[in-house]
Amino acid sequence: MNIAPDHVVQFHYTLKDASGSEIESSRDGEPMAYLHGHRNIIPGLEEALLGKAAGDRFSVTVPPEKGYGLRREGALQRVPLKHLQGARHWKPGMLAVVHTDQGMRQVQVVKVGRFNADVDVNHPMAGQTLTFDIEVVSVRPATAEELSHGHAHGAGGHHH
Ligand code: ZN
Repeated sequence: MNIAPDHVVQFHYTLKDASGSEIESSRDGEPMAYLHGHRNIIPGLEEALLGKAAGDRFSVTVPPEKGYGLRREGALQRVPLKHLQGARHWKPGMLAVVHTDQGMRQVQVVKVGRFNADVDVNHPMAGQTLTFDIEVVSVRPATAEELSHGHAHGAGGHHH
């Protein structure tokens, strides 16, 4: 079965930056699962996976425009501390999750005040050219429930 829209794909990945240093890998745990065609993963990776099948291994290099976007200057925003999720005591450099109009977003804490924090809304990997070493583990049609939720369930996907 080949990867196509409305299919759930499990894959292992190793992610490297432009200098070849490993940023993260799924190899220590279970493969990642996503629902193809529903913007669950960055566009450059989704494009590269289209048409692949279980057992396929390949590498793809994704420019920022098809990855986490270009780094924008002046992307600092002041956010009430109570809106930051992920830790109790915030320090500069930590990553936090905030809910925005466009869904959950990862931000980097730049400065912490008593009630508010200044956060950089650039994704931590914005501006980076990323290389993924991919192994497709499985491909199956999505269930009706997965399609209505817009994401994969089960191992490597969402657990409710
Ligand atoms: Zn769900």
